[in-house]
Amino acid sequence: MSLRITHLGSGSKGNATLLETEHVRVLVDQGFSGASLERRLKLLDLHPKDLDAILVTHHHGDHGGGALIAQRRWGLQVHANARTAEELSLLEDLWHPFVSLETIQLGPDLAMLPVPVPHSGADNVAFIASHQGQRAAFITDLGSWTDELVRYVRGCEHISVEANYDERLLQQGPYPRSLKERISGRGGHLSNDQTGEFLAEVVTEATSSITLTHLSDMNNKPHLAESTVLYYLDERFQGDIRLSMQDGPEFSVFLGEAASVPPSTEGPLAARVQREGS
Ligand SMILES: [Zn+2]
Ligand SMILES: [Zn+2]
Repeated sequence: MSLRITHLGSGSKGNATLLETEHVRVLVDQGFSGASLERRLKLLDLHPKDLDAILVTHHHGDHGGGALIAQRRWGLQVHANARTAEELSLLEDLWHPFVSLETIQLGPDLAMLPVPVPHSGADNVAFIASHQGQRAAFITDLGSWTDELVRYVRGCEHISVEANYDERLLQQGPYPRSLKERISGRGGHLSNDQTGEFLAEVVTEATSSITLTHLSDMNNKPHLAESTVLYYLDERFQGDIRLSMQDGPEFSVFLGEAASVPPSTEGPLAARVQREGS
């Protein structure tokens, strides 16, 4: 059985990533309204009640803004650290606290390790998922990275990481200078170049797929993100690189037995067919 990863959508208007194994189905982040989450899951023939839990990276609305709704409306369990839970006013009886660098066991075939990442005004974490000896990293909203993060992400089979902005588009764009500085600062977001540099440090022969996430509408373009990252990766990476945009789900990545699913089977419909057939 494989680990199936489906980005339900990514960007400043909301983020959620679905992870499914034979035994467990969880979301990383729930930054959508209840109706939007329902609609996105429905494209995969799922309902929020089919989820076993939600893990929240940090409290910003585009990541944690829909966590309390999910607790109230569907009784879903939410894993979050103390700061995030407090900021989101999570219901205590449906809250599972975690601390960084301690494994969260979500079922017999899925564990998650939270690793701290620098992001202003938030206690943000990346998650490293482990499934039958394979690992997938989910990293978003960070202005810079630490050696510790590099250690944990290096050699992961799959890496989802933000490529938030193109440096030139940000600097020439309409945002006020203070906001430009916040975005590009140490506690802000990664530029395409920074994401490329980071990936060049962590990608190994084991890495088979990369998904770029959280692209800015205003300050980035898909072709710029992809070409910049590929420039840094050069010969290092021969796998699939894809982009998750705001309106998903668009495709699924499989780790494990079903990893050889051909690229022609992309799209929500294909994803649904595969799910029924697997
Ligand atoms: Zn954030
Ligand atoms: Zn964000």
